Amino acid sequence: MSTSAFSARARAILPGGVNSPVRAWNGVGGDPVPIASARGSRITDADGREYVDLVCSWGAAILGHARPEVVEAVSRAASRGLSFGATTEAEVELAELVRERYAPAERVRLVSTGTEATMTALRLARGATGRDRIIKFAGCYHGHSDGLLVAAGSGLATAGTPDSAGVTRAAAADTMVLPYGDVDALTDAFAEHGAEIAAVITEAAPANMGVVEPPHGFNRLISQLCRHEGAIFIVDEVLTGFRAGPAGWWGVERDRDIASGIEPWSPDLVTFGKVIGGGLPVAAIAGKADLMALLAPLGPVYQAGTLSGNPVAVAAGLATLKLLDDAAHARLADNADALFEGVSGALASHNITHSVGRAGTLGSFFFGLATPPVTFAEVARQDTAAYASLFHHLHEAGVYPPPSAFEAWFVSTSHSEVDVGFVVDAVDAWAREQ
Ligand SMILES: *Cc1c(COP(=O)(O)O)cnc(C)c1O
Repeated sequence: MSTSAFSARARAILPGGVNSPVRAWNGVGGDPVPIASARGSRITDADGREYVDLVCSWGAAILGHARPEVVEAVSRAASRGLSFGATTEAEVELAELVRERYAPAERVRLVSTGTEATMTALRLARGATGRDRIIKFAGCYHGHSDGLLVAAGSGLATAGTPDSAGVTRAAAADTMVLPYGDVDALTDAFAEHGAEIAAVITEAAPANMGVVEPPHGFNRLISQLCRHEGAIFIVDEVLTGFRAGPAGWWGVERDRDIASGIEPWSPDLVTFGKVIGGGLPVAAIAGKADLMALLAPLGPVYQAGTLSGNPVAVAAGLATLKLLDDAAHARLADNADALFEGVSGALASHNITHSVGRAGTLGSFFFGLATPPVTFAEVARQDTAAYASLFHHLHEAGVYPPPSAFEAWFVSTSHSEVDVGFVVDAVDAWAREQ
């Protein structure tokens, strides 16, 4: 079946032909090609064309696709039963492993999606403080729960609709949206509303409006203001966790602080997803023991899930985290440096105005912007037409970049020098023609 015939069939049953909006390629135009399989760094479409994958399931496939040890762990778990609706040893082991690597995760509750994790974190913060208001930053995406669909990034950035229809004014009213990295806006908001603020939620490093490195000291400032005013600091590491660095973006800043003799800051609550499921639905909310003790069944804040801690999904997450040792992270970092430096060098050699947003092993390109943007307003000025042109060129050449200028480019530990060289050459060929 041709791609356009398939798209017509998909659109006749799935709204937009997809089960998640960015997959529809609205940000770059054209018909998405259905994917048939993936292995290592390569993804293969239904026509049998192979691409170097730079989406990696939006970061979950950190070891590359279908890593044999992970697939084996999943099939072993599946053969023992798909779901019990009861606690298993593997869930406890996964939670312990999360805490071992990410010290602020003193207690962990597993859920199935990042959306659930952030939604629960907000409920917990409100339950703990007895306050209603939250602060989020424009361009930060925290999943699709009502109160967080205000000036969000990701697919909403692509569509140019930072607010969703169907979100009540009441649900959005308690969400204050500030420009990312804006110290004055943040201190003013606390000066004016400090006693009403239940929580500040931020991506540890924004990676759903392209990748933005947090301005030096910004996360620390949020942490200090929250502590001072009795608000809860929620750090969303659904994308960055166990990917931006071995202990997420928080770990990158912690190591930096320790190296300069500064006491590291620490989140009250943190959310994980993507990598901790290794490609299957696992996410988590974690944080300070006293706060987490407010969750049911210990405390008054309700949260539950039929498939939470699902044994097959947990097996994938556990196998992935175990393989993701320091050597794997070093390899990931090398791959990221080679990719982002190589592509940027190719663009620069043909005088293509661009900047590279980097946060640890995460990165993205902003066309038409000579310096990396920080706020969503700055990000929105990028040349999305140039990105769309590059996207289609790369896709033709056998590279699968994210189908939106507002997404991170993802590498895995299984990408090789050959893969990266192939991508850089394809970008060079495009840049030469511009
Ligand atoms: C992907 C993402 C989410 C939402 O996770 P889902 O599993 O898609 O619900 C939340 N926060 C951030 C930072 C994300 O990148």
